[in-house]
Amino acid sequence: MMQLSMYIDGKWKNTNESERRLISNPANGEVIAEAIEGTVDDAKEAIRSAKRAFQNGEGSWPRMAPAERADYLYKVAAKLEENHDELARLETLDNGKTHTEAGFDVTEAADCFRYYAGLIRAPEGQAADAPESIHTTVVHEPVGVCGLIVPWNFPLLMSVWKIAPALAAGNTIILKPSEVTPVTAVKMFDIFNEVGFPDGAVNLLLGHGAIVGNELATSRDVDKISFTGGTETGRAIMKSAAGNLKKISLELGGKSPNIVFSDANLDTAVDHALFGIYFGAGQVCSSGSRILVEESIHDAFVERFAERAKKITVGPGNDPASEMGPLVSEDHMNKVLSYITKGKEEGAKLVCGGNRIETDALKDGYFVEPTAFTDTTEEMSIVQEEIFGPVAVFQTFKDEQDAIRVANNTDYGLAGSVFTQDNAKAMRVIKKVRAGITWINTYHTNFNDFPWGGYKQSGIGRGLGKHGLEEFQEVKQININL
Ligand code: NAD
Repeated sequence: MMQLSMYIDGKWKNTNESERRLISNPANGEVIAEAIEGTVDDAKEAIRSAKRAFQNGEGSWPRMAPAERADYLYKVAAKLEENHDELARLETLDNGKTHTEAGFDVTEAADCFRYYAGLIRAPEGQAADAPESIHTTVVHEPVGVCGLIVPWNFPLLMSVWKIAPALAAGNTIILKPSEVTPVTAVKMFDIFNEVGFPDGAVNLLLGHGAIVGNELATSRDVDKISFTGGTETGRAIMKSAAGNLKKISLELGGKSPNIVFSDANLDTAVDHALFGIYFGAGQVCSSGSRILVEESIHDAFVERFAERAKKITVGPGNDPASEMGPLVSEDHMNKVLSYITKGKEEGAKLVCGGNRIETDALKDGYFVEPTAFTDTTEEMSIVQEEIFGPVAVFQTFKDEQDAIRVANNTDYGLAGSVFTQDNAKAMRVIKKVRAGITWINTYHTNFNDFPWGGYKQSGIGRGLGKHGLEEFQEVKQININL
């Protein structure tokens, strides 16, 4: 069985006295690893280590030339690729996602390190319309000690989306993976150990969010928290972070609208609607969990969608035939099933799925059928709240204005999509959707070069792209009297 340790100050930390947490495979409930359960003292030690390594900007990591820091990141990218299959296998074992989905995460993670290694070598030289006697310039400096707190749905990739820009910018970091899925983070720190970062520049803290995560959020020695997870946790972190006014970035939940007009190419729209909600078994923050279909094609669209949804092969992520894996844990499966019960009680109509899968082969895992509801109203909790599982809700609209109104009628604003063959209409509508990640005639398409994040209660700040780097930088203006 794998033994998962923390990594602090350039060393693996195996505290025998610490409690262990059992990590299980969501496809069959089998225990696959034992993880050290971090304590508040461990969190304090990790923070001290990162603070020593940062040394008010004088540590070897923040002072290193950006091009040299970039070399470390290129080495990490190469080693992630060398370990591609093993990392994907471990991610499937720990999170449940299919091997194809997990392999995609590893490839994207390597690309993300390369992207930021390149970006940090291209600083903006900024001139201004100052008088000739004054030379003005803007420089970017690291923020300091960064606590990076990530969820269980993309354990490796969400960690990398934060680690790569934070390190490129010269910060020292403490990663706190989800206690549910720590396996690939530990494997990645093996790679960091081989690459040989300066002691204390990269630290790994395992354990419960409310204990070690809260210590990161509260500590006056942490300068920045970058968090991805649920909206309620984001709210709690924001309060804890207020003590020293630390900088925060929050990437939170969503209830994203996928709008299908009657003039859409229906084959494309159905394909992407299915992928939009059932990719990752719906455990994706940007899932197209509300499918808004123009009234005139609603019934025909739903029929085609449900027919296809029923044919999705659900099974263990390590079976190449599986198109959708299990939910991440029994607790999470029960939460998703309780929403399905609530949907029925609220009067919505099930058009496919609705049950846990309890065949002999799958009964020990946390598998739920691809599910969809019609006959919903805008007030229903299944329409307003993030279910974070393979549950689509259909809504209808009369015309363009109505589509925009229904799309924006939630507290969230993470993602959104429009399907139509009328490009002008697509642009008019997408510009009115209050969300940070949007698509036209596609769903879930994403690049490391572009900013990721939400409007409204879906978060604060942006990950990825140039904006993702700036989240980990202070900006200083320097005016020189020549
Ligand atoms: P979660 O909020 O329960 O936990 C996320 C992380 O926060 C975990 O590491 C957890 O240990 C830690 N944590 C929990 N309580 C804490 C506290 N009081 N202080 C500090 N840290 C604490 O989320 P989850 O269940 O792991 O993930 C699912 C959620 O993540 C969904 O709501 C989903 O929408 C969101 N998510 C958002 C994005 C995005 O980019 N916007 C991406 C992935 C997931």
